[in-house]
Amino acid sequence: MRVLNPATEEHVATVTATSAAGVDAAVTRAARAQRAWAAAAPGDRARLLRRFAAVVDDHVEELALLEVREAGHTLGNARWEAGNVRDLLDYAAGGVERLTGRQIPVAGGVDVTFLEPLGVVGVIVPWNFPMPIAAWGAAPALAAGNAVLLKPAETTPLTALRLAELALEAGLPEHLLQVLPGEGPVAGAALVGHPGVAKIVFTGSARVGKGVMAACADRLTRVTLELGGKSPNVVFADADLEAAALAAPMSFLDNAGQDCCARTRILVQRTVHDRFLELLAPAVEDIVVGDPADERTQMGPLISRAQLDRVRSYVPDGADALRGSAPRGPGFWYPPTVLTGVDPDAPVATEEVFGPVAVVLPFDDEADAVRLANATDHGLSGSLWTRDVGRALRVSRAVQAGNLSVNSHSSVRYWTPFGGFKQSGIGRELGPDALTSFTETKNVFISTEG
Ligand code: NAD
Repeated sequence: MRVLNPATEEHVATVTATSAAGVDAAVTRAARAQRAWAAAAPGDRARLLRRFAAVVDDHVEELALLEVREAGHTLGNARWEAGNVRDLLDYAAGGVERLTGRQIPVAGGVDVTFLEPLGVVGVIVPWNFPMPIAAWGAAPALAAGNAVLLKPAETTPLTALRLAELALEAGLPEHLLQVLPGEGPVAGAALVGHPGVAKIVFTGSARVGKGVMAACADRLTRVTLELGGKSPNVVFADADLEAAALAAPMSFLDNAGQDCCARTRILVQRTVHDRFLELLAPAVEDIVVGDPADERTQMGPLISRAQLDRVRSYVPDGADALRGSAPRGPGFWYPPTVLTGVDPDAPVATEEVFGPVAVVLPFDDEADAVRLANATDHGLSGSLWTRDVGRALRVSRAVQAGNLSVNSHSSVRYWTPFGGFKQSGIGRELGPDALTSFTETKNVFISTEG
């Protein structure tokens, strides 16, 4: 598989794709490594994961530059992503010795619960955030005593491969964390269908995710799905309009819009709609689009030509829009684009575009805002801008989404739970329960009657 730099279309690396037989062999090796890992003292497992975090910390700049080259991420984002891997490993390490079962009162004996590791866990990762999403699955799974097989996306295998090398450098046992670059329908499908894999954590499109869930049903393989989004950014008339307009562009342009949490439906109360657009226009025009390795760049390229064609297909010719600028090429560039006067039922207003394109839709009152915010099959993230605390809480409770922020666009923190309602997924990653989701609860009753 050829890896291209999406900003230049230059060849970066060639990687060997894993076959179904290769996946099978990896599962056998992982199962062996997992048994020893689960039997090790919790303190030793924690220490090794902390050392892994420290080695990642020593390589943040190298990993970030690799992410810039293979995924076109801006340098600032890529540094944050490598730091997120480090932080998550540290956080997961802190959970190893706190992963405790319970003792439950019973008559005639003692009843205890154990949180048993699942065994071998498959983590299937998309191309949009290759490093952090790999770690969101791998770090807590390892901490809970599992082995991990990581299947990166076809276009972005390099950071995952490097992380596996760093794990060995840190002293993690061989075969405990293996990276299997390969085609989704070959290596990914082999992982999902393998009887030796106890759980699949899949992050990607709803279309593929539904197929993964159906395949998991065969053996009742445990599954977590993190899928797409079409998140609302709701601006009420009582909000700090300037702050809301200034923050709106990067809430859907970050990572060139290839972000499952992108706030691509900007819902604005009708009384302030025109004023908001006046404030938004210069903020969109001012976004610095270009070389992702330049520290000043705010938005880089799309991942591939196919993604560029997909984004173009959503934007009607001659549509009313606020637009920014983009380089002509080489590379897969599309300018920041905010469409106005769009039919709320149009595909660009209801489907995940996964590019730097948002729509602005007016609403009349709180009930109308909630109705519009929920008028999608997705339910991943969303933002509310208001100065009224009561409204912020009322609307937060009414919007069907897993991750909401008020007067902010923040979605992801490794210590708070992350995941989707409706067709944005099943299960949660990150946060205090992350390790538990990689265990099976076992209840044991011990009779004390002679
Ligand atoms: P995708 O579904 O095409 O691919 C995701 C992964 O699945 C890749 O590694 C791919 O090789 C693999 N795959 C493909 N076919 C497979 C199969 N039959 N069996 C097993 N694995 C298979 O998604 P993508 O285009 O790489 O990523 C973009 C999507 O990911 C967007 O929809 C985005 O919203 C979503 N996403 C969601 C989250 C979240 O946390 N909710 C985060 C990032 C991205």
